[in-house]
Parts: sequence; structure tokens; C-alpha cells
Amino acid sequence: MTTTVPVNALDRHIAPLASRLEQAAAEVIASGYYVLGPNVKAFEKEFADWCGVANCVTVANGTEALELGLRSLGIREGKTVAVVGNAAMYGTTAVLACGASPVFVDIHPVTSTMDPKALEAAAATQRIDAVIVTHLYGRLADMQAIMALASKYGFTVFEDCAQAHGARDASGRKAGSFGSAASFSFYPTKNLGALGDGGAIVTNDTTTADTLSKLRQYGWNGKYRNELQGGRNSRLDEMQAAFLRVMLPLLDDWNARRREIANRYSNEIRHDRITVPPASGDDFVAHLYVVRTVDREGLQKHLAAAGIASDVHYPVPDYRQPLFGNRYSGITLAATDAACASVVTLPCFPELTDEEVTRVIEACNRW
Ligand SMILES: *Cc1c(COP(=O)(O)O)cnc(C)c1O
Repeated sequence: MTTTVPVNALDRHIAPLASRLEQAAAEVIASGYYVLGPNVKAFEKEFADWCGVANCVTVANGTEALELGLRSLGIREGKTVAVVGNAAMYGTTAVLACGASPVFVDIHPVTSTMDPKALEAAAATQRIDAVIVTHLYGRLADMQAIMALASKYGFTVFEDCAQAHGARDASGRKAGSFGSAASFSFYPTKNLGALGDGGAIVTNDTTTADTLSKLRQYGWNGKYRNELQGGRNSRLDEMQAAFLRVMLPLLDDWNARRREIANRYSNEIRHDRITVPPASGDDFVAHLYVVRTVDREGLQKHLAAAGIASDVHYPVPDYRQPLFGNRYSGITLAATDAACASVVTLPCFPELTDEEVTRVIEACNRW
């Protein structure tokens, strides 16, 4: 029996970098700067440049990047924020943390990102103050349509790019550069991942960036002068920033390899009960490769027997999460409900070998 093909393998991802990461760690240890020092400053500049955005403010994780990002744009009690329901509660949790209310908008059945038609239907019938656009699985949402709706209806656009570092449209414009601000996560499994938690917000607006640099540090406008409500300690540390600086120059190649694997799957998996996403270009950085099937349990069992790990991202729509009780029991979003009931994630990470990809394809086709 050969070894199982994993959904992800961080040991394989990090091993080739070990000596460079150890060197970076040794330099941080010797430097005497451990929080908000030169590595954080340099990484913020490098990551903003890489995204094609003027400012980057790093924070402790992607969840706080979302919440503080929304706060920096004035989202608070009484505000309404449109979100999708198939993205594991991250956006919804941030909206609730700000004291605002989520408005659940259906996804497009093929792209799994927010359906602009459903967003327009929501905006036409109720006030929407902001929208969180989640570039789910690494696929850039339909930003052209969403930005057009933003000007028509006057709402703010916030992008959740935690799965989409580097996804770009036909003109080369990258995820995070469309909305008023955008959040990223550097959790270890993300396309760009630290060796611990990390996050960032990017924005072209200097005032927003200034607000964020206060919110992440107790709401201070200077030492021991608390200016802003909603502030806290949410900082990226020097060690993680130093690691991220080692990895950022490698990210384009990692994304290209992820896309290559995803496109092999899309072109070579052929089964009448498995629906694959379309083969993709630069707008997809293949954070997760997700297929649909009417018999999820059957497919996962078959794959497990063939030594292929799989996962489900994500099984429960936000509006059906237990914390809400019956609050949203009246909501039915057809494409979101169908997605949550049928998605299966196949192994997809840059270090997957061609032979492993072939094994996954053959196992699917033999089902
Ligand atoms: C991972 C993730 C987050 C949260 O990031 P953390 O760093 O784990 O807090 C937010 N949104 C999406 C879409 C994610 O995938």
C-alpha cells in the first residue's frame, strides 16, 4: 500500500526553506527588536508593493484583519454588511464583532463567489452599507460587476483575500486593490503562510491606513493616548514578518504550481457524478481545489480507500450555524445551500508531485 496523498503538507512546504528561515530567526533574535520593528516595516512595504496597493498594515491574524478593516471603514452598530454564506463564517463573524448586521447574499453556482445579480437584488430592496467580497478558494470574484454596483448603490467594498494572495484580473490588477480596503491571512496553510498566525490589511487610502495602525495598538494615537474605540493589541511580530519576507519572493512560483495542478484536475477528471471547476488563468491561485458531487460521502469513502485524503470547505452555511438559533431560519439561498451540501476538496498544494496528481485523477475517474 502506497502512502496517502494528503490535502496539504506543510512539512514538505517548509523543509526546503529551513536554513533560510533559521538564518532569519537568528537575525531577529540578535537584533533586539521583537514587535513592530524593522522586519514588520519592511514586510509591509514589500507586501503593499506586491499587491499593487499604497499601504499595508499588518495585524495578528486574518480574523482581526477583517474586523479592524471593517471598523476602519466606519462599520459599527446599525450598519448592514452584505456577505456570502459559504465562506466559513469569517466575514460574518467580523460583521457581528463590529456590532453590525450581516445580509446574506447568494453565490454564483460555478464560481462559488458572490453573485452580482443576487447582490443587486439585495441592494435594490434594502440599505447595504458595505459588502465583504470573499475571493473563495483563491478565485477572484467578479470585481468589475461588484464595483459597478458599488457606484450605483453607494456601498463600500471590502475584500477578504485570505485565500487569494496574488489572484489577478485580465489587466493584472490583484486581489486587494479593488475595494476601499482588503484583508489577508498568513495562517500557515494559506498561499503565503507564516510559521504561526499573521494577517494584514491593504488600502490605497492613507487615512484608513492611519486608523488601522492605531486600532492594532490599543487605539493609541501615540504612547498612552487612547484616541479610538475598538482598539486592541493586534500586532504581527518580527519573527513572523522575517519569515514572510523569506517567502514572499517565492509566492508567484507557488501560485503557478498550484494553478498547474488545479488545471490538470479540471482537464483530466472525467466522471458523470463529479463536477470540476473550469480550468483557469491568473484569476485563480488555487488555494483549495474544490469539486462538487451529489454523493459526497460516497466519493470521500472511495478516495480514502484509494489512499487519497479529502476535506469539505465548508459544510454549513453561515445562516444555519448553531450560534444563530432560529434567527435566520427563514433564509434559503439555493446556490449556497447546494454548494455546502456537495463540495469536496482534493489535495492541492505546490509540493504535490505529478505522480500524486495522477493518482488523485485516476482515483476520481475510477469511482
Ligand atoms: C483563513 C481565513 C480567514 C481567517 O484568517 P485567520 O488568520 O485564520 O484568522 C478569513 N477569511 C478567509 C476566507 C479565510 O480562509
